Amino acid sequence: MKKFECDCCGECCKKFQPNLSEFSELISDLNGPEYYYNVREIAGLPLFEWEVKELNNESKKLGISLEIKPDKIVIDLLSNKKIVYSWKLLQEPCPFLKNNKCLVYDKRPLICKGYPLSIKIDEVTDALSADKDVSCKCAFWPKDDPIINFYKYLYEVYDNCFIAAIKMKQIEKNYLDIFILLEKLGKIKLMKYEKQQPAFEKSSKYQDINVKELFCEHSITVDIENIADKYAKDIIECMC
Ligand code: SF4
Ligand code: SF4
Repeated sequence: MKKFECDCCGECCKKFQPNLSEFSELISDLNGPEYYYNVREIAGLPLFEWEVKELNNESKKLGISLEIKPDKIVIDLLSNKKIVYSWKLLQEPCPFLKNNKCLVYDKRPLICKGYPLSIKIDEVTDALSADKDVSCKCAFWPKDDPIINFYKYLYEVYDNCFIAAIKMKQIEKNYLDIFILLEKLGKIKLMKYEKQQPAFEKSSKYQDINVKELFCEHSITVDIENIADKYAKDIIECMC
C-alpha cells in the first residue's frame, strides 16, 4: 500500500479554507430541527482553546504577533454569554511558517496534524466519513468503488493524519454534546439558529466565555482531549 508522504511544499500553511457556509456546520439535538451553533465564514486556521494558549506562548518566545478571533460559538440566553469553543488564526501565510518549515512543528494544532484529511461524524449514526483537501497535491484517494474497508484504507495511507483528523472532529462533537446536555438539564438556554440573523451578527452584546470557564461554572470535570484520544484508539483497535 502506497503511503501518503508530505513533500513539505508548505502550500497548506499559506492559504486557509473558509468555513463552507453557516449551515454546513449546524447541529440539531435529534429531537427536532432546532439548530444552535454558528460559524463565521472566514478563512483561517481552526484552533481549540488549549491550542490558542500554546500558540500564543510560542509566538511570544519567537517574537511573532498573532491575530486570533473566535470562530464557533453558541449563545447562552440564561447567562447572556457567548460560549466560544473554536478560534481561528487569521494570518495567511501562517506566521509560524519559515522557509517552508513549521517553527512549532511539535506543538502544531490538530488541524495541521490531520491535514490533508478532514473527517465528519454523522450526528445520528456516529458513522465517520472523510474527505481530503484537494489543494494537497501529494494526497491521494481511493479509486475503487465501493470501498469496503474505508477507515482501514485511510489509516494505512494517512496513518497519524487520520488519527489527528478523527480526534479533532470528536473533540468538537464532545463539546456540542455537552452544550446540548447542559441545555436539557436547564443549566443553559441556547439561542436557536435563525438563518436571517446569524448568531455572530447578534453576538456582540454578549460577553465572551470559553469552554474551560463554562465547565468550571457548572463543575464539569471531563477531559475532552482524553475522551477523543480514547475514541481514536478504539477506532484503530476495531480495524486491527
Ligand atoms: S500541501 Fe500536502 S504536501 Fe504540501 S506541505 Fe501540506 S500536507 Fe505536505
Ligand atoms: S502551525 Fe505549522 S503546520 Fe500549522 S499552518 Fe502554521 S506553519 Fe503550517
